[in-house]
Amino acid sequence: MQVAGIWAPARATRAVAAAAGLIALLALQPEPARFSAVASVRVSHARALVLSEQARRYLILQYRSFPTEFMGCMIGEIHGNAVIVHRIAPADVDPKQSTETRVVPKQTCEDAGWTGTVGVIHSHPTGERCWYFFPGTRVATSDAQSFGRQPYPVDAIMCGDRVVWISRDMAQQQVRLVEAEAQPVDHSLRSGSRQ
Ligand SMILES: [Zn+2]
Repeated sequence: MQVAGIWAPARATRAVAAAAGLIALLALQPEPARFSAVASVRVSHARALVLSEQARRYLILQYRSFPTEFMGCMIGEIHGNAVIVHRIAPADVDPKQSTETRVVPKQTCEDAGWTGTVGVIHSHPTGERCWYFFPGTRVATSDAQSFGRQPYPVDAIMCGDRVVWISRDMAQQQVRLVEAEAQPVDHSLRSGSRQ
């Protein structure tokens, strides 16, 4: 007879072993092979989302240009537990499927011709409701549910001055897009701070 308590540590050990195996595998694989199949690359505990300057500029411009939600494929790579986004490619979205509160792509980033997608980003044009769980709860929003159906290691929401993102461990984090040099710095909202 199996004792229920045995299962949790056994699972944890296996997860750690699997993670270590994945890291070893990533280290061994040549660069171009890493992202040929997106689903094969997963980081369960991404601790940083690093956006290139180009990615930041693109997001800010898109955000300013669209009154409805837009969607992009974050193209990049994974280093340890950091997800590095080099650039944002446009997702294939039918204009009818982009409203102020939702956006649905016509096809996946891979089918749209992009390789190396580490996650999808969409915008909330009013900068509101930028969360994957309803505040103070573990109730998943539709954004968390759609992340659950995707193969990518991370997902992100563009919220104007910040990007809220989540990795497979379902820990929501955020990164500021604009470093407010000329304005008073709010240290509670530093880049990459946990929520
Ligand atoms: Zn959303």
